[in-house]
Amino acid sequence: AKARGKNTYHFFSQDLNDAAKEKLLIETQLREAIREHQFVLFYQPKIDIRDQRIVGYEALLRWIRPDGSMIPPLRFIPVAESTGLIVEIGEWVIWEACRFISRQQSKGHDVTIAVNLSARQFTDQNLAAMVERILIRTCAKPQSLTFEITESMLMGDTDAAIAQLNELKNLGVALSIDDFGTGYSSLSYLKRFPVDELKIDRSFVKDIPEDTNDMDIVAAIIAMAQKMNLRVVAEGVETPEQIDFLNNNACYLVQGYFFSMPRAEQELFHLNYQPLVH
Ligand code: C2E
Ligand code: CA
Ligand code: CA
Ligand code: CA
Repeated sequence: AKARGKNTYHFFSQDLNDAAKEKLLIETQLREAIREHQFVLFYQPKIDIRDQRIVGYEALLRWIRPDGSMIPPLRFIPVAESTGLIVEIGEWVIWEACRFISRQQSKGHDVTIAVNLSARQFTDQNLAAMVERILIRTCAKPQSLTFEITESMLMGDTDAAIAQLNELKNLGVALSIDDFGTGYSSLSYLKRFPVDELKIDRSFVKDIPEDTNDMDIVAAIIAMAQKMNLRVVAEGVETPEQIDFLNNNACYLVQGYFFSMPRAEQELFHLNYQPLVH
């Protein structure tokens, strides 16, 4: 960029300045959001299409501003990540997910919750100890908790990543690779990580059945997951045609708007343990 000359640099610096201002504003508001308890978790069911039953939920973070507007995670998680605030927010997410599990347990419901981890959390040396403390304090069963991590988090320092995964696994929680297929991992690479599940990224699912290329990719991921004894979940499933395709390729676990959007806990009640009728 330096080689582009002074004027060009000047031209870009205004944009940079605006971006920096926007980031600072979000950062200030995020600190306030933590203080004022403006975060909530929404839950999206994961369905077994063979009997249309809910086998678990993914917890998805929502920021509700005092004026009632809801800010989607993709607008604030990058700022939370770059400022480090994600560590504090992410800890709250784990607490809240475990309290949810615990509340369901006390009603006699065994429920599985998947929690997304950010890169910053994943490289934190204290993560497993923190999770253990939360599990103990909430009495949530470790088997009821799954962590979703992305392939890119496993790419850098592989030994450190494997050590972190093992520490988490030793607590009894399950591990899932999110957005699978977007991060260039190879089969041999994947074999080294002690994970239980792959989630096929929505980008490969959304154009089924029009895009035969994507259908080949999805079929290959499913076959590979089966060979490696990994559970496989398709995300972003919206149509009956997509369900048919997945069913025909023996991928039975799905998430997506076809069954349900992510919802607040109070709005899940009627869904719990009922077969979904469509
Ligand atoms: P993700 O983990 O890949 O989550 C799936 C996203 O797809 C969610 O968006 C969900 O609402 C959306 N989705 C589910 N089914 C469908 C569908 O059928 N069609 C379409 N178009 N979208 C669908 P959301 O809730 O906006 O979250 C976006 C991303 O933000 C997540 O992607 C995840 O990377 C991140 N995120 C959310 N909650 C947390 C959190 O607690 N911690 C961290 N670190 N990241 C989070
Ligand atoms: Ca996820
Ligand atoms: Ca995902
Ligand atoms: Ca995704």
